[in-house]
Amino acid sequence: MRPQILNQLFSDITVLPGVGPKVATLISKVAGPRVVDLLLTLPTGLIDRSARPLITEAVEGQLVTLTVTVEQHRPPPRGLARLPYKVLCFDDSGLITLAFFHARSDYLRTQLPVGSTRLISGKVERYSGGLQMVHPDHIVDPAKADELPLFEPIYPLTTSLAGRTMRKAAAAVLDFIPEVPEWLDPDLVAREKWPTLREALRSAHAPESRLDLSDENVSRQRLAYDELLANQLALSLIRQQRRKLIGRSIIGNNELREKIKSRLPFELTLDQAKTLDEIYYDMAESHRMVRLVQGDVGSGKTVVALLAILNAVEAGLQAALMAPTEILARQHYDFIQPLLAGTNVSVELLTGRSGSSERSAKISGLSKGYINILIGTHAIFSNDVRFHDLGLVVVDEQHRFGVYQRMAIQDKGRQADVLVMTATPIPRSLALTTYGDMEISQIRNKPPGRRPVDTRALPLERISDVVSAVGRAIVEGDQVYWVCPMVEESDEIDLTSVETRFAELAGMFGDKVGLVHGKMKSAEKEAVVNAFYRGHINILVATTVIEVGVNAPAATIMVIEHAERFGLAQLHQLRGRVGRGTKKSTCLLLYKANKNSQLGETATARIKILRDTDDGFLISEEDLRLRGPGDLLGAAQSGFPEFRIADATRDKTLLERARDDSKLIIQNDPQLAGPRGRALRILLYLFGRDDAVRLLRSG
Ligand code: ADP
Ligand code: MG
Repeated sequence: MRPQILNQLFSDITVLPGVGPKVATLISKVAGPRVVDLLLTLPTGLIDRSARPLITEAVEGQLVTLTVTVEQHRPPPRGLARLPYKVLCFDDSGLITLAFFHARSDYLRTQLPVGSTRLISGKVERYSGGLQMVHPDHIVDPAKADELPLFEPIYPLTTSLAGRTMRKAAAAVLDFIPEVPEWLDPDLVAREKWPTLREALRSAHAPESRLDLSDENVSRQRLAYDELLANQLALSLIRQQRRKLIGRSIIGNNELREKIKSRLPFELTLDQAKTLDEIYYDMAESHRMVRLVQGDVGSGKTVVALLAILNAVEAGLQAALMAPTEILARQHYDFIQPLLAGTNVSVELLTGRSGSSERSAKISGLSKGYINILIGTHAIFSNDVRFHDLGLVVVDEQHRFGVYQRMAIQDKGRQADVLVMTATPIPRSLALTTYGDMEISQIRNKPPGRRPVDTRALPLERISDVVSAVGRAIVEGDQVYWVCPMVEESDEIDLTSVETRFAELAGMFGDKVGLVHGKMKSAEKEAVVNAFYRGHINILVATTVIEVGVNAPAATIMVIEHAERFGLAQLHQLRGRVGRGTKKSTCLLLYKANKNSQLGETATARIKILRDTDDGFLISEEDLRLRGPGDLLGAAQSGFPEFRIADATRDKTLLERARDDSKLIIQNDPQLAGPRGRALRILLYLFGRDDAVRLLRSG
C-alpha cells in the first residue's frame, strides 16, 4: 500500500485550483495526470524580470522592470480603433510609451491612474524615435511590489496550454509537497550540501538564474539522485528477490567441455574465458543465476553458450537454448550438433514448424530426459513442453524478446539458471539502469584474425556504380545484403521501399535476388533467409529484420540505403553481418547528399566514427551521445527506463553512487524495515517503483 503521506500527491491534477478537465488533459500531455507528475516536471527555462534600469538605460529588446510615473492617457483617435491606446510615462531619466491594442480605456484608467507610480514589466522596443512597451506583462502598484514575480519558470508546453496556466498549476503543486523523512544517507547530504526533498522541489520550481536551471544546481542534483536511487534500489530489490529463489549448485566434471574444446578450430579469447568463469561460478552457487552476456556481433557468444550448456549436461541436467527466430535456432543447431557427434549427448531442434508427430516425439523425449539439449524458438516454452530436469536456459539475442518477456521466460524455467545473451553492446549507464537486475559479463575483444570491414560512404546518386560492383561480386560467388529503410509510405520523405529496390535488382540479376521485410509472414521470411544462408540466392534485399544474428560467412558486401536514417549502433550491427569469413568485406553507406552532392556534416561525423572503430561499446556510447537513449534501439523495443529529472548518461557519477548506495542499503536492511528503509519505500513510491516494494511484501 502506498504510504499515506503520499496520498495527496497521487491525486488527480484536477484537485489543483484553476485546473478543470480541459486544462488537465493538456497538462497530462506534458507532465502526467497526477499531482506528483507535475511536481516532478521541472522548469526548462526562466523568465528573468530582475533587470531594473532607468528608462533611458533600458536596452532595446531587453526584458525589464521599470518604476514609472503615469503622465497622460492617449486613446486612439475616433474611428481609428485599430491604432493603439497609448499611456505616456516617465522617470527621472526620460519617457516611455505604453501601447495597448484593442484596449478597454476604463480598465487602463484604473490600472494606470494619471500621476500614480507603477512598476511595469515587459520588453522594451524603439518606435519612431521613442521607447515603448507593448502590452506590459505586469502592471503593479509599488505598494504591492511582491505581486510582481521577478523570476518566472518556463515549463514544457503543448498547443493551447498557456505558459501562465501551467505556471499557476505548478505553483499550486508546491503546497502539496509532504514533509517526508529523509531517505538519503546523512553523510552524503552533508557532504554535497543537498537540501531536503521539500526544499529541493521548491527551489527547483523557482529558479532565479540560469545556474539554478543547470544540472549542477544542488536541488536538481539531489532530485536526480533521488530518481536514480529509486531506479537502482528497485533493481537491487528485484535482484535480491531472485537470489533468494531456490536454484541449485551445478558443477560439471569438465569431461564434455574438454572434449568439445579440443574439437574447436580455435582457442577461446580472454573475454570468452573470463565470461565462462563468471558463468561457472554463478552456476555453482546454490541460488539461481540470472546473467547477461553482452558481446558485439561476431564476438563469439555461441560457443560460450554451448560450454555453459555442457556444464549443465555434465551435471546430468537438461539445457535449453532459445533464439528469436527459426533461422537462428537452426544455425545454432547446425553449429552445435556436429560438435557433439560421437558423444552420448542428444541435441534436438524444436520450432513452431516442427510437424506434430515429430513434435510429440521430441516432447516425450524431453520429459523422459532422453534429450539433453533443446534448441528452438519460443516454441520450446509452450505449455505442453515439459523438461525432465532443466538446469539451464540460454536466451540468445535478447533485445528481440523485450525486457518484459525475459521475466516470463524466467518463470517458465522454474529453478533453472538463466543466461541471456545480447548483441547490443549498450553503454554501461544504460546497462545499469536497464539490466541492473542481472549480473553482467562483457565480451569486448573479438576473435583474432578478423579483417576489418572496409566502410565507405557514397551519395545515393552513385547507386548505379554500387549495382555494378554488386554484379561483379556475385559472379565471384559472393553474397550481398542490401538494406533499405522500413517499408513506409510517405510523400515527404523519398524513401526507396524495399519492394522497388527488389524489383530493380531482380530485373537485373533474376532469381539470385531475394526479398525479406517485416510485413511478410514469418514462414515466408524464414524461407528467404534460409535460401540466402544456404547460398541459393546471392543478394538479400531486406529491411532491418536481418539486423540480428544471421551468420552467412560468404556475405562480403553490405549495402545500406539511406544510411542517414539509421542510428550508429544499428549501422554497426548491420555491418557486423559481413566480414565473418576469410574474404575481405565492404560496407557501403548510401547517403542522401545535399545540393552540391556533398555529405552533410553529421553524416561525415557518423561515418568517421564507424570507420575509426569496430568496438560496438564505443560506438554505442557515441550513438547515445548523438541521439539519446530512446532512439538507441528504436524507442518501442528499447525498454529503457525514462527519467524525468536524471539523465543516466550525463549523471554518470550520481548513477554509480546510487548503484553502490543501493547495494549497501540492501545489505544493511534487506526488507527496508528500519526507519531509513521505510523512508526509502516512500522514495520508491514517489518515483513509481512500487513494483519493487511489492516484492518486499511477498518476500
Ligand atoms: P555472436 O557473438 O555474434 O553470436 P558467433 O558466436 O556467431 O558470434 O561467432 C562468430 C564467429 O566467430 C563464428 O564463426 C565462431 O565460430 C567464431 N569464433 C568464436 N569464438 C572464436 C575464437 N575464440 N576464435 C576464433 N573464432 C571464434
Ligand atoms: Mg549469436
